Amino acid sequence: MLGMMQDWPLLCHKILDYAAAQHGGREIVSRSVEGPILRTTYADIHARAKKASQALEADGFGLGDRIATLGWNSARHMEAWYGAMGIGGVYHTLNPRLFPEQIAWIMNHAEDKGLFVDLSFLPIVEAIADNVPSLRKIIVLTDADHMPKSSKLEMVDYESWIGQHDGDFAWKQFDENTACGMCYTSGTTGDPKGVLYSHRSNVLHALISVQPDALNLGSNEVIMPVVPMFHANAWGIAHSAPMVGAKIVNPGPLMDGASIYELLDSEKVTMTAAVPTVWLMLLSYLEETGKKLPHLNRVVIGGSACPRAMTEAFQNDYGVQVIHAWGMTEMSPLGSLGVMKPVYSDLEGEVLLDMQEKQGYAPFGVEMQITDDENVELPWDGKTFGKLKVRGPGVAKAYYGGAGVEQFDQEGWFDTGDVAHINANGYMQITDRSKDVIKSGGEWISTIDLENLAVGHPDIQEAAVIGIVHSKWDERPLLICITKQGKNPAAEDILEFMRGKVAKWWMPNAVAFVEEIPHTATGKIQKTELRKQFADYRFDDG
Ligand code: ADP
Repeated sequence: MLGMMQDWPLLCHKILDYAAAQHGGREIVSRSVEGPILRTTYADIHARAKKASQALEADGFGLGDRIATLGWNSARHMEAWYGAMGIGGVYHTLNPRLFPEQIAWIMNHAEDKGLFVDLSFLPIVEAIADNVPSLRKIIVLTDADHMPKSSKLEMVDYESWIGQHDGDFAWKQFDENTACGMCYTSGTTGDPKGVLYSHRSNVLHALISVQPDALNLGSNEVIMPVVPMFHANAWGIAHSAPMVGAKIVNPGPLMDGASIYELLDSEKVTMTAAVPTVWLMLLSYLEETGKKLPHLNRVVIGGSACPRAMTEAFQNDYGVQVIHAWGMTEMSPLGSLGVMKPVYSDLEGEVLLDMQEKQGYAPFGVEMQITDDENVELPWDGKTFGKLKVRGPGVAKAYYGGAGVEQFDQEGWFDTGDVAHINANGYMQITDRSKDVIKSGGEWISTIDLENLAVGHPDIQEAAVIGIVHSKWDERPLLICITKQGKNPAAEDILEFMRGKVAKWWMPNAVAFVEEIPHTATGKIQKTELRKQFADYRFDDG
């Protein structure tokens, strides 16, 4: 017997319909590529996204067409997403931090037909457009006045392009499982892999993420997604913020400490989200200037492990709650959040910080397990670590084009490639990427734990740990550090700081100081590159 409730497909553009109807006057503020701060509203974005849909249709785009975007976070970028989704098209975010050849590879793999691009990224497009035969329309996210005087590309400016239409458009209707968005993982090993979101997965992910014990979003919130729309589906914020009518403040191209601070302050931002590297820049700006964060209530930190010292600085020095989150492009992307359950509500000081080093627990809609190499499920005891696997309505069931089949099993579990333990209360802690874990004498050493500890030293700016071949133990940890400006600590001083805080046999065998630690296009430490740089390194005793 079927239920007798309405069939109301979960389509993303319904989110924007809702935002316009219930929160039409709520603002979206964007620092533009051209310079000025632009202000618009959900009602306006709604009307203009419909014009974008009309313009796309007039240009012959339709169901299933991949329409790429190469842009900073902005209201126009958001309109482009919704405009594409509204005709059944698929927004495809491209990461401008990748090499142009990688971007071309990804566009060809996805067979992108259209492209929305910010002025800042035109040189990339000029370099690759000839190598992407499927591409037949380029729309620059600007107005006629700011268009370049000459270019080898044939392109239109967004404002004139949508300006030809009246916005009198009914979004297309289709099954909620229809594809609506696409995002490639950055491919630090092997080729990038495409994740293809559906309307249903994005809507459910947004519903999951606004919950009180997740991002806790509501209409009173002023949210600044520093996490770019081109990284991991913008952590769902382009869907979750309009779903609750939160005001959005887009940082555009400027993510340095001073620029981020300026918007946090002038727009009275209450909640923000980004990877740790961004917060390092903000925290050192605050330290230098003595400025405070009176409006900011909480900051979501993920994409890489949030160092304990960072949580401590935000909470103790600035009164801003840190929510440590974990997720992946393949998970839409939120997978777990470090919000405290009642059993931990009394924690404070160091014990609270211990708990916040964990990546938190999975909200409804994300199932988790850890297994050993033989696929046997491991206990949730907070110490046994194994392969972290997930499933749920926001988790990919395959990669676009069939890559990586070995990561998906018969029971629907997706192997994240992360190694983690989970405690009895469900709090998960990532100890490594499976390819980064150090195997010493048959036992595993967590590089993330060591890195977090090392950056707690007052003179250390950033730290990375890699395994170095060792004749007796197979591999032993090498700690690679960048020191803070003007600081010159001795290796022994850092090791002494770490001693007693981790098992003795986890202690790095040596410390190497470097000027720079390489990062991936999504801000993660590029361990593959570090391993290459230190390929010939050997310890004195090994
Ligand atoms: P990409 O692989 O393209 O850089 P993703 O955001 O999809 O982008 O990367 C997901 C991976 O990032 C996770 O599998 C995990 O290894 C790492 N990660 C994300 N959040 C955290 C976190 N809070 N702590 C540790 N690692 C994290």
